[in-house]
Amino acid sequence: MYDLIIVGGGPGGISAGIYAARKKMNTLLITDGFGGQSVVSADIQNWVGTPSISGYDLAKNLEAHLRAQKGIDIVDDDRVIAAQKRDDGTFSLATKNGKTHEAKYLLLVSGSSRKKLGIPGEAAFEGKGVVYCSICDAPLFGEKTVAVVGGGNSALESVLDLVPYASKIYLVVRSEVLKGDPVTQEKIKVNSKVEIIWNAATQEIVGKDFVTGLKYQDAKSGEMKELAVDGVFVEIGLVPNSDFVKDFVDRDAYGAVKVDARTQMTSCPGVWAAGDVTDALYKQNNISAGDAIKAVLNIYDHLK
Ligand SMILES: Cc1cc2nc3c(=O)[nH]c(=O)nc-3n(C[C@H](O)[C@H](O)[C@H](O)COP(=O)(O)OP(=O)(O)OC[C@H]3O[C@@H](n4cnc5c(N)ncnc54)[C@H](O)[C@@H]3O)c2cc1C
Repeated sequence: MYDLIIVGGGPGGISAGIYAARKKMNTLLITDGFGGQSVVSADIQNWVGTPSISGYDLAKNLEAHLRAQKGIDIVDDDRVIAAQKRDDGTFSLATKNGKTHEAKYLLLVSGSSRKKLGIPGEAAFEGKGVVYCSICDAPLFGEKTVAVVGGGNSALESVLDLVPYASKIYLVVRSEVLKGDPVTQEKIKVNSKVEIIWNAATQEIVGKDFVTGLKYQDAKSGEMKELAVDGVFVEIGLVPNSDFVKDFVDRDAYGAVKVDARTQMTSCPGVWAAGDVTDALYKQNNISAGDAIKAVLNIYDHLK
């Protein structure tokens, strides 16, 4: 029985692990990888104290800092798939590799994952033209025609990532408005490579060995149409990785874990959460780290 199980190995999870170890709490950290979402970023310029670092190097530094702590158990190749609150108030976690772990307290720092379109062809062509990270994969689409699906900031940023490479970029928007920053919208609207397809309900991604097209329905006319594209960049938002606690922890309509911002406590006694898995207003590496540390200090107070 651990005092604390930390679920996640991003900036939040690692910060929590370091603090928990230094407080000599009997802790297990479970993750299926280190560094979190920005591991794919070519250049992070706002990690405080480090003017510029790649996501990969940041992940390596975070992992090294965690491993330098004594007295924390680390499982770095497994994923929590189910959690249970027992009658005595303790928790039991089941993992993908068939293991069970038990703890008095839980800290959820499991972040979020990219939302999928859920249309035919998406899964079949993932890695064969269907892409979820423009920063990572834009250079693979030199002189190609691509579609970016979405209308928020991540979609707009994705278009800007593609501009130096792709020859033509369709921005496929479900409604008649873009939700991203006005400044970014302006940059996109004046770029001759970019064509915005409004009111487009995506229906299917088609191809042979690789993607060749994106089918959509014009929501106004009802007409089915197809764009001939070599790639589809899906940029429709993020889903919090919180399903495994849905039976005993309150979440908002998007699946984000609700927390008290003073302590990071959730609705369930014994469970804390921090970072991108929560309903925190802002999602950033430094914020996840700070909020996770706040959670550990509060957990320590409870343990005492
Ligand atoms: C492309 C990109 C670039 C970004 N650039 C910046 C930037 O420059 N600056 C900045 O401040 N922020 C940036 N962000 C945002 C930043 O990455 C996030 O705010 C931050 O990673 C959140 O940290 P986290 O620890 O809360 O969650 P995450 O980073 O999402 O980490 C969650 C961790 O938990 C693990 N995990 C998830 N579910 C489970 C489970 N069930 N069992 C076990 N482990 C699990 C995951 O593998 C992962 O290691 C960027 C995001 C993206 C996508």
